[in-house]
Amino acid sequence: MDYIRQIVSGKKKRFISEGYNLDLTYICDRIIAMAFPADGFESCYRNPIDKVVQFLENRHGNNYLIMNLSSRTYDYSKFKNQVKNYQWNNHHAPQLHLLFNMCKSMQEFFNQKQENVVVVHCLAGKGRTGTLICCYLLYCGMFTTVNDVLQYYEKSRFNDQGLGVNQPCQIRYIEYFNQLLQGEPIYPSLKYLSSIIIEGVPKLNIDDGSKLSAKIYQNQQLIKEIQIIKIVQENQTNCMIISPSPIVVHGDILIEFYNSNLVKTKLIMRISFNTSFNSTTFHKDQIDPFKIKNDSRIPDNFQIHVCLSEYCNQCDQTTNFTQKCSDCKQSLIQERQNWHQIKEAIQLNEIIVINHSPKNF
Ligand SMILES: [Zn+2]
Repeated sequence: MDYIRQIVSGKKKRFISEGYNLDLTYICDRIIAMAFPADGFESCYRNPIDKVVQFLENRHGNNYLIMNLSSRTYDYSKFKNQVKNYQWNNHHAPQLHLLFNMCKSMQEFFNQKQENVVVVHCLAGKGRTGTLICCYLLYCGMFTTVNDVLQYYEKSRFNDQGLGVNQPCQIRYIEYFNQLLQGEPIYPSLKYLSSIIIEGVPKLNIDDGSKLSAKIYQNQQLIKEIQIIKIVQENQTNCMIISPSPIVVHGDILIEFYNSNLVKTKLIMRISFNTSFNSTTFHKDQIDPFKIKNDSRIPDNFQIHVCLSEYCNQCDQTTNFTQKCSDCKQSLIQERQNWHQIKEAIQLNEIIVINHSPKNF
């Protein structure tokens, strides 16, 4: 069984000692990354839940908190209900304020006593787990740049290169997180999304009767479906999706691109961004999932431009809430609540800094 688990966990560093063989790694002295604690058949290839319980009790007593990012549940009573549960889709970015909420929860638990450790897991214990751990290591001040923290996580958790956090949306959200943490004056703002321009024609049979379409989600709610209206091909390099009328957007935006023919509809790529930041052009290596960057059907000069402009001529993303006009204030009520949670987390981090000892490689 250990052999099968070892194959499934791939190049991750396992904890093999004291009679345990688990897909579990100490990223630093008080932060553990691991794979999903499973039972039944799944425990044959992920971490057997009872072994994880035994491991944590033997090594840490009751002094642990589990951050479950898998969007699945399990028998939390086995862990004396010391589990926090978050909704976060695999290979996606979470809502921005959630990253701050999670780091704040970790910090509050660390502050309770010196012995406390936090265990972070998703399914494989790679991307989502790494995204949160990287944000926390920036939050607690162990790292100040996104590149350094990404490299550190990769070296801590994996035996090979290129296996850390590699979904472009997750890296983008770690960058957003760090910008806010560094105190950049950024606030939610309303934007017009007038069109999405796709540059470069992917070899996806889009001209043989199949159709390209897009779905736009705002804060995880579907707000618009767009069928391709016009394909402009200039020297075989351009195609275009035009939104029929500008829509007003704010917060966390996900745009999914689909290719459909008579038989099926297939999700081919997606992009995620937050409207408070200036990410409007997405090159091939900034489009999700990360395997797109090695997809030979997508030309190397492929780009997606999201045409965003200010909705309000008085307010933008540097205007704080008290200074915003009444129209923007009214439309940004939910964003204001989310942003309040971000500010609360940043304030807590300014009061107490915990020293986590990094590993040496
Ligand atoms: Zn305004």
